[in-house]
Amino acid sequence: MFSFLKPKPKPKAPARKGTRAPQRVVVRALALAEVPAPLEVRSSPRARRMSLRVDAARELVRVVVPPGVPDKEVARFVGRHLDWVRQRLAALPPRPVLADGAVVPVLGVDHTIRHDPVGRTTARLCQGALGPEIVVGGGAEFLARRVTDLLKAEARRQLTTRAKAKAARIGATVAAVTVRDTKSRWGSCSATGRLSFCWRLVLAPEPVLDYVVAHEVAHLREMNHSPRFWALCASLAGDVDGPRDWLKANGARLHRFGA
Ligand SMILES: [Zn+2]
Repeated sequence: MFSFLKPKPKPKAPARKGTRAPQRVVVRALALAEVPAPLEVRSSPRARRMSLRVDAARELVRVVVPPGVPDKEVARFVGRHLDWVRQRLAALPPRPVLADGAVVPVLGVDHTIRHDPVGRTTARLCQGALGPEIVVGGGAEFLARRVTDLLKAEARRQLTTRAKAKAARIGATVAAVTVRDTKSRWGSCSATGRLSFCWRLVLAPEPVLDYVVAHEVAHLREMNHSPRFWALCASLAGDVDGPRDWLKANGARLHRFGA
């Protein structure tokens, strides 16, 4: 499996002692006027203290607290770290709009969206006079949805073709490839050989998508992250370090595209 990098600095409150806990995580929403984003409070029996992070993919602030911490105590904790929260939220890049004239990267190549109201009511990748385009027919109100559907279909095609070809190189079999909008993983591999990927990889440069496929296919042979796994992964991918660094630096951005 390949996870997102979590944001680094996480303010922590002093540990709490002696709290009796229910054995499950309870999630609740909390609205604070000072925080310009949704706030999610996760009450977890495993939490020993309050901690805070900004979830870039979902654009929300998450506070993990031990069970039984009242809202006003959570609010005080968030209030003490307000500058940090605001800085992290302000640092999120603007959300790209899928509209006529907007630019969308497909496997690292910029494509300009061109709305053709009288054309076919589908979206398709084309080579236009001024460069690569995504041409979308039909009503403007469906444009973002149609572009997203096209990107998902292209992701499925790229990921499936590459997974099968790489598996064949190591004599392994892919039981199935599923493509979803996963928030916490780029890819995963089950013990039964089912591979799952995030469709947003199609927005990344080609070597990045290719590396994630290589990573999950290598798990068909090595269900671990041992040196043997990494050697196998490197033999299936053109590059490993570059794509990993790229995902750490840019992964959250990919979650901001789409309808
Ligand atoms: Zn892995």
